[in-house]
Amino acid sequence: MKRALHYFEETDEKEYYEVGKSSEFNYMGALVTTNYCLPCHKHQGYKLGDVRGGISVSLDSTEYLAVTSSMKNRVTLLKIFVVIFLFSIVLLIFKQLRYSQKFQDEVKHRTKEIESTKQLLQEIIDADPSFMVLADGEEVIYANKTVLDFTGYASIEEFKESYEYMSDIFEKVQNNSNFIQTYNNGIYWIEYLIQEQDSKTLKVCIKKDDKYRYFRPFAKGIKADDKALYLITFDEITNEYVKIKELEYMASTDALTGLFNRNKLNDVLEKEIALSCTISSSLCVIFLDIDHFKGVNDTYGHGVGDRVLVELANIITSSIRTGDIAARWGGEEFMITLQSTTITNAAMLGEKLRARVEEHLFETVGKVTISLGITEYIHGESEESFIKRVDKALYEAKERGRNRVIVK
Ligand code: GH3
Ligand code: MG
Ligand code: MG
Repeated sequence: MKRALHYFEETDEKEYYEVGKSSEFNYMGALVTTNYCLPCHKHQGYKLGDVRGGISVSLDSTEYLAVTSSMKNRVTLLKIFVVIFLFSIVLLIFKQLRYSQKFQDEVKHRTKEIESTKQLLQEIIDADPSFMVLADGEEVIYANKTVLDFTGYASIEEFKESYEYMSDIFEKVQNNSNFIQTYNNGIYWIEYLIQEQDSKTLKVCIKKDDKYRYFRPFAKGIKADDKALYLITFDEITNEYVKIKELEYMASTDALTGLFNRNKLNDVLEKEIALSCTISSSLCVIFLDIDHFKGVNDTYGHGVGDRVLVELANIITSSIRTGDIAARWGGEEFMITLQSTTITNAAMLGEKLRARVEEHLFETVGKVTISLGITEYIHGESEESFIKRVDKALYEAKERGRNRVIVK
């Protein structure tokens, strides 16, 4: 135990321990000189605090070392575990970050895709020459560029500042119930369109730069979330409509005088008779014919004769009321229907006409006279019998010397 004594000498320590080569645990405690030692050993030169030997103990430390080593191993394992655990967490966080970045990129990519699809659809809808509006049943919530360009508004919101309903720009078209208004038989236009579009040829008329433009509307229901939306398209049909109207006009109008022709008058008569029956009104007709018109043609030529026909047509139209309908029956014969007119009033009008023609100085020709037959519709009779009677009245006027009115 020299090492221990030497250690005590060199240091101030009073205990020494070591593990020996054979795994024994050696311990030595220093024997320190105290006041109790001095009475006996002072004469030997002992001084207080001197180390004068030691007591040593030696123990087998194999078990202790095994425990220590196992603990060391466990600590090492624990350290490895902690390192692995920390590494896993770092890896997980890194992966999570990468995943979240990827997810964000994916969301960005999808959003961009949706945006560009939306933009493409918007461009397609805006490029469509048809009017396209989206309505929620109550009112229009979106209008494509074609509508906005046509109406001169930058947005539907701006449009709504000027109009309560989109239908406020729809023109009223007389005598044609197929043209949609804001309310149609009390039904709001969008609802009316949805209800009637399959059974009726519904139309819309819009005035633009003092010109009437015609459109064919069509509504299609769209399910969007829990809302019922309608995509309403308006295809322009102005050219077709105008052409049809021209054809209708040509088919119903006398080209020379501009009055209805006989064909149209037959339709008119049918309707007027039906109306007269419905409202129990008195319906009369005047049938008139130019006296000795052949002579006019023979003397002045056909062109002058035509002029006489036009002038007479003007006298007729300027003598009748709105609602009375005049037509050229053929040649130099004219017929006038007088709805809700008594036979007395019809006779008065006939006489007024006869007098006006008699007084009128026709271009080139001068004086011309007419003969007139007048009759009232007898409820229940046929159109044919009605016309036959008025024809008879005219014939009688001719027979009786012309330039006169005969009532039958
Ligand atoms: P009346 O008093 O008996 O009616 O004698 P009228 O000469 O008028 O009768 P008539 O039936 O003999 O002759 C009708 C004439 O009307 C014959 C035809 O030349 C003329 N006429 C028929 N249509 C036209 C037309 O579109 N233009 C012109 N200028 N004449 C026409
Ligand atoms: Mg005639
Ligand atoms: Mg005649």
